[in-house]
Amino acid sequence: VRKTGGNNREFFSPELSKAVNERLLLGAALKRAVSDSHLRLVYQPQIYANTGALYGCEALIRWNDPEHGEVPPSRFIPLAEETGEYEEIGLWVIREACRQLAEWRALRIDIPVISVNLSARHFQNRRFPDQVLSVMKEFGIPGEQLMLEITESMMLTDDEEVLRRIQILRNAGLGLSIDDFGTGFSGLSRLARFPVTEIKIDKSFVSGYPEDNRQRSLLEAIIGIGQSFSLNVIAEGVETSEQFQLLRELGCPVIQGYYYSRPIPASEIPGWYRRVSHL
Ligand code: C2E
Ligand code: CA
Ligand code: CA
Ligand code: CA
Repeated sequence: VRKTGGNNREFFSPELSKAVNERLLLGAALKRAVSDSHLRLVYQPQIYANTGALYGCEALIRWNDPEHGEVPPSRFIPLAEETGEYEEIGLWVIREACRQLAEWRALRIDIPVISVNLSARHFQNRRFPDQVLSVMKEFGIPGEQLMLEITESMMLTDDEEVLRRIQILRNAGLGLSIDDFGTGFSGLSRLARFPVTEIKIDKSFVSGYPEDNRQRSLLEAIIGIGQSFSLNVIAEGVETSEQFQLLRELGCPVIQGYYYSRPIPASEIPGWYRRVSHL
């Protein structure tokens, strides 16, 4: 913070320096969390609306810090992007998801696909595709078993290198999912240009229903977009049976949300799998 003189005294307010201090402390703790393995993944099942069978799971990161307690990802992921820690965290997530898939496979639990969340910045690194592919090779995970979730804003890029890196991973069979679809401003032409395989309807489009009945036509439109581009469509944040019924009626193929399951520890996935694998 630079002194700008005049009336900008609030730059030096005690509240602000307290906030800055907290970020520094949290940033240092995050560094330790990565090296001391205080991070873990939880998994949220994604279910075919028609049959109840398992489509896949989304891996969501958790950080339980000895000092700061349970820190939500909405708080530490943006911090990690600022400090550069996201790079190691992202690779850890991919490695842990692959390791877990291999562990489940040894138990004859065949989870069709795990999706992982990535920061757009990963694709700034030209080594990223090779790093991902070598982890998958190490655990014997086929490309089709991994889905990469990126946000809609990333589709705005005109960087040919970024597109090339995404294409390398797509060529290896990995899926590409657009998270929080409908909340950005990427435009439909981007969807045609980008090697996307799936869109995830943001929970803000689901959560208002049935109180807000306008949601219905929005959902219908987004599902229609997915269909016309031959993409898989997942609705997130489905909490109630009304929301589930509506989405099924509108032809949304896959559902994710508390209605079926909260994100759960890896140890609970085999039980889940056995319950739905005959469907
Ligand atoms: P997201 O990718 O949109 O993940 C969905 C969030 O909605 C998750 O929150 C999930 O727990 C929550 N959720 C799932 N079902 C429901 C529901 O029915 N109702 C409601 N109200 N919420 C539901 P979470 O786990 O706290 O993650 C928040 C965000 O943090 C994620 O949003 C994602 O952007 C980010 N994040 C999580 N894990 C990772 C990661 O490994 N890497 C990166 N880069 N970001 C991550
Ligand atoms: Ca996500
Ligand atoms: Ca999302
Ligand atoms: Ca989100």
